[in-house]
Order: sequence, then C-alpha cells, then structure tokens
Amino acid sequence: MRRHNEAHSIVSAITFLFVLGLSLLVSPYESVQAAIQSLIWPETSSQAEAAELEEASADIPIHPLIWSETPFQAEAAELEEVPADSNKDSDGSETAEEEPETLTSSSLQTSAESCNDMRVLVDRSHPLPPGYAPEDLVALQSYKVLVLGSSEMSLRREATGQLKGLVSAAAADGEELVVASAYRSYADQEGLFGKLKSVYGLEADRTSALPGHSQHQLGTAVDFTNAKVNYQVWEPFGYTTAAQWLSSHAHEYGFILAYPSGHEADTGYEWEPWHYRYVGTENAKRLVERGMILQEFLASEGVLPSC
Ligand SMILES: [Zn+2]
Repeated sequence: MRRHNEAHSIVSAITFLFVLGLSLLVSPYESVQAAIQSLIWPETSSQAEAAELEEASADIPIHPLIWSETPFQAEAAELEEVPADSNKDSDGSETAEEEPETLTSSSLQTSAESCNDMRVLVDRSHPLPPGYAPEDLVALQSYKVLVLGSSEMSLRREATGQLKGLVSAAAADGEELVVASAYRSYADQEGLFGKLKSVYGLEADRTSALPGHSQHQLGTAVDFTNAKVNYQVWEPFGYTTAAQWLSSHAHEYGFILAYPSGHEADTGYEWEPWHYRYVGTENAKRLVERGMILQEFLASEGVLPSC
C-alpha cells in the first residue's frame, strides 16, 4: 500500500513537471499559472468569473480627483433616483432659507462643453481636469482694465467685456477697482498652492484651492484690490466702500461674490470679499431673484465639470 502511494506520488510529480515544462514552451507566465492552477484546484467557473471581474474593474476609477468623469458618473447615477424637480425655472419666489434645489438628471450635461458653461460647478468636490483651459481668453490690458503689476492677466472674452463695464461704472462712482488675479492655469494653481502650503501648512487649504479645484482655472474668476488696502488681496478689502459697491452692483455685470461671509460650511472656503466669479448677466439675475449664494445656485443648475 505504501509502495503504491509512493509510486502514485512519483507519477503525479512527473506529470506535474511534464505539464509545467510543456506550458513553459508555449508561454512563459500565464500558462505556468494556468497549469499549476489546473493541477492544484479542480476545474470551476472561477476563470470565467475572474475574466468578468477583470473587465468590470476597468470601469473602477483609478483616481477620482483626476478623472472628473468618475464623480460625475457616480452622482448622475445617484441623481437618477431623485425625483425631478419640476419648478426649476419658477417665478423666483424662493428664498435663501429654502433647501437648495436638487440636481436633476435632465439638467446634467455630459459633453465637453460642460466646463465652458458659465454655470459649471467647481468646488472642493468637483475638480476640473488638469488639461482644461478655456479657448477664448483675452488680455485684460487690451480692454484697458487696471491690473496689478506688469504681467499679463486674462479672462474669457465675455467676462472681460463685462468686467470693463463694471470697473468703469465703479470708477464713475469714485471707486477704484484693480484686478490682482484673473485666469490661472492648473500649473499656476499648483505653484501658488505649493507656496502657500510652505508658509501656512495645512491652513493653506482653507483659503486656497487645490489645483483643479480653483474657479480661476475657468477664466471667469477675478480678485479685486485697491489703494485703500495697499493693493493687497486680504480681508480688509471687505470693509471698503469699493467692496460695498461691488455687493450692490457686481451682479448687474454678471459677477457674483463666490465665498460670502458666514457660508464657510456651504462653500468650503472662508470669506473672500475680493473674489468674484462671472456667470453671465441672466444667470446672475436669476441667482439674485432666488436669494441664493453662488454655491447653491451652481448646485441647483447641475452643470458638472465633465470635460
Ligand atoms: Zn480668487
């Protein structure tokens, strides 16, 4: 009996080595695994299952912060379960106290155009892809808009035209508005955030956006300053008459204060009285009528950066 078992083991070992050797001749790695597997485990449907899993895993996000399609798709799927809100374009009687409107699948955009849409939501959860840059940037200097320093600053064409109207109207009312910052590329933001982080550490995250998460990459966001605050971009600007003028009139030119005081929990950023984003005059009018802050308005419009 013992001898029989020994003989059986020897035959098994020889068979194993023979199959192993054969498979090495065919394909060095996969076949070895397959050969070993077929000898060790009984044949099951595991191989078919493994193939299926491999195929499915191709759809699993590698890095949700980089691949903007991923959070978008996940949210779109969630949203399909939410009943559509039919009074989206209602009479503007809604107030800031009401719950922000829910995104509806009908209002979601899936095309590359979404990032060029003036209403696209870019915040801590919705980044732009590193490669996104608007195609219609124009130099503010060519529109005779006052800028800080000598380096060229730009915004998208429509925003620049409206900005020119805004600063001219402010000047006519005796208020100086100088642009301290406008369009910033992904790489610019990366450099800026790196510098802030080296000075402020983790605190940098509270006032500056991570690369991809900055509205400045859209080419529609602008930071203002003036002589009264020594041409600095900081909180004292919020107490100037120029800032008051902006809060009364900026929306007439399509610009909205992005990070208002007391809304840090909603926007994810501290009060930034200098930072305005252009959304277009019609959108700005609807936002004001609804009594919303920018974050609520953009969320309710449901245009996510899927480009
Ligand atoms: Zn800014």
